[in-house]
Amino acid sequence: MSPPQPKILRVDNDCLFCRIVAGEIPATVVHETDTTLAFRDIDPKAPVHVLVIPKAHHTDVVALATADPAGSADLLAAAAAVAEAEGLLTHGFRLLFNTGGYAGQEVFHVHAHVLGGQPLGPMLVPR
Ligand code: AMP
Repeated sequence: MSPPQPKILRVDNDCLFCRIVAGEIPATVVHETDTTLAFRDIDPKAPVHVLVIPKAHHTDVVALATADPAGSADLLAAAAAVAEAEGLLTHGFRLLFNTGGYAGQEVFHVHAHVLGGQPLGPMLVPR
């Protein structure tokens, strides 16, 4: 029987979040699985602001959903686990994927923002 093959991760060496996964850039990690990593946002917009990412590089949630449905499910499960661990299930929280230019996406490695710990106000600034 052949030995188990190591899982080859998709990596973009110029990607900030790939470098966090690789341990090259420090982050405050709050949750980790084989396929996901969750760490505190460096510039929090709420008392709890955690980013949940797949360890593999996908530019945004559309690319992840297309290339890796199982990885998408892992990401949602990790986000739910983070929300529970951070005590957000009682009062609720927001799960947000900025995707592309109109949404103001800054880091092109898909990440779910888990936001909570206080009332979060309207989803968008009223026009
Ligand atoms: P987005 O605008 O959805 O692409 O969000 C990118 C998020 O990454 C922002 O909320 C930033 O504050 C956050 N961020 C940028 N660099 C780091 C870092 N080194 N560690 C943790 N969060 C970061």
